[in-house]
Amino acid sequence: MTSDSRRLAEVAERIIPGGVNSATRNIGAPWAWRSAKGPTMTDMDGNVYTDYHAAFGAILLGHADERVNDAVTRAITDIDLVGVGTTELEVEAAQLIVDAIPSAEMVISTMSGSESTFQAVRLARGATARPYIVKFQGGFHGSYDALARNVISAPDRAWKRDPNSSGILDDAVDNTLIAEFNDLASVEELFALHPEQIAAVILEPVPHNVGALLPEQSFLEGLRALTRKHGSLLIFDEVITGFRHALGGYQELCGVMPDLTTFGKAMGNGFPVAGLAGSAEVMSNFTPSGGAVMLAGTFNGNAVSMAAAIATITVLKDPEVDFYGHVYGLGDRMRAGLQSIADEHGIAARMAGVGSVFVPYFMDGEIRGYRDLLRNNDEASATFQRRMIEQGSFMYPMALKRNHISLAHTEADIDRTLAQAEDVIGTMARE
Ligand code: PMP
Repeated sequence: MTSDSRRLAEVAERIIPGGVNSATRNIGAPWAWRSAKGPTMTDMDGNVYTDYHAAFGAILLGHADERVNDAVTRAITDIDLVGVGTTELEVEAAQLIVDAIPSAEMVISTMSGSESTFQAVRLARGATARPYIVKFQGGFHGSYDALARNVISAPDRAWKRDPNSSGILDDAVDNTLIAEFNDLASVEELFALHPEQIAAVILEPVPHNVGALLPEQSFLEGLRALTRKHGSLLIFDEVITGFRHALGGYQELCGVMPDLTTFGKAMGNGFPVAGLAGSAEVMSNFTPSGGAVMLAGTFNGNAVSMAAAIATITVLKDPEVDFYGHVYGLGDRMRAGLQSIADEHGIAARMAGVGSVFVPYFMDGEIRGYRDLLRNNDEASATFQRRMIEQGSFMYPMALKRNHISLAHTEADIDRTLAQAEDVIGTMARE
């Protein structure tokens, strides 16, 4: 890291804990950024990187997309925040979302994915009058107490009690039960242990917070049948998969319909916006509909967020843009290219992912669930991604992390990154 970045990072460290505003932004080096545009970001010293981190996937069209920025600017010249009743922007955004997400009949807007999953859990408990939530080892659903546990757990704590933070009450941890992804029996067991006590099962349909585990169709269908049989709600946390893998989220691709869907991140192309959608019956449990589950949020539905979401979704729907064709094509090119480089150099690797997401796992064999990820060579993952940054392609330098391709990336970007990967993997093979 060079001088201007270091200077700013050092000031940040004195007045912001760890110098960053979210734990996973601290990646062991003092990064500080001056600008981000299209597929690139530029640090304080003028070093330019092709950005495959994409703000943990919040960037879908590329940084500072003019269509989105212009829409936001236009919207805020008319209205900012009123805080009673509704606005045209809120209604237009809600209509676009309800039309896009197959299982959605009603939707609320929030400011972050964490708020959406928090509201989903409270709504599920309120609607069913049951305490327990089932989540999967490795699933991440934001910082909310009830869902914080058992994300990337140390091997000896996986599937056991792993609160992941201090300051969380025991009750919040104990009322969330942990199952194994792609293992229906592990969920059946919990239903058998806690009859009529499970309010909901929540999952990332593709657990992208541990890279990209691919859901087996029978597993998703099994979860749907099991939750229905036991009177529990099925919640798809599509904060990453939503709008990214298909306009209607992963549910559009797998055809399995959840009761509730949370989404956020990419739908505002970097502006803060998220939401929760579901059937009218379940969503009517919120207080504004006369139900008993509190819904509140000063900034919910503000003009900046709504305009950003409307503009982003409008680009995604434009057949001339062909967003999905573009990113799926580049994603395939990247995964196939990386896989053949690793194979040629005899490096054990699985270049996994879906569409715009690519994940270099450094391991052999089958990858079905979290259990398999314990075999990943974490050091090789971190080394690969750190060295790719040195070469100019920014990939989050930690094992099991995913990378994202945006509409702004080109075939030339992918080919340049593959040439860099040839160097990096070639060196790793010789070491
Ligand atoms: N759910 C999933 C699947 C996520 O990946 C994240 C964020 N990484 C969240 C929820 C929380 O979203 P936010 O950071 O906007 O609160």
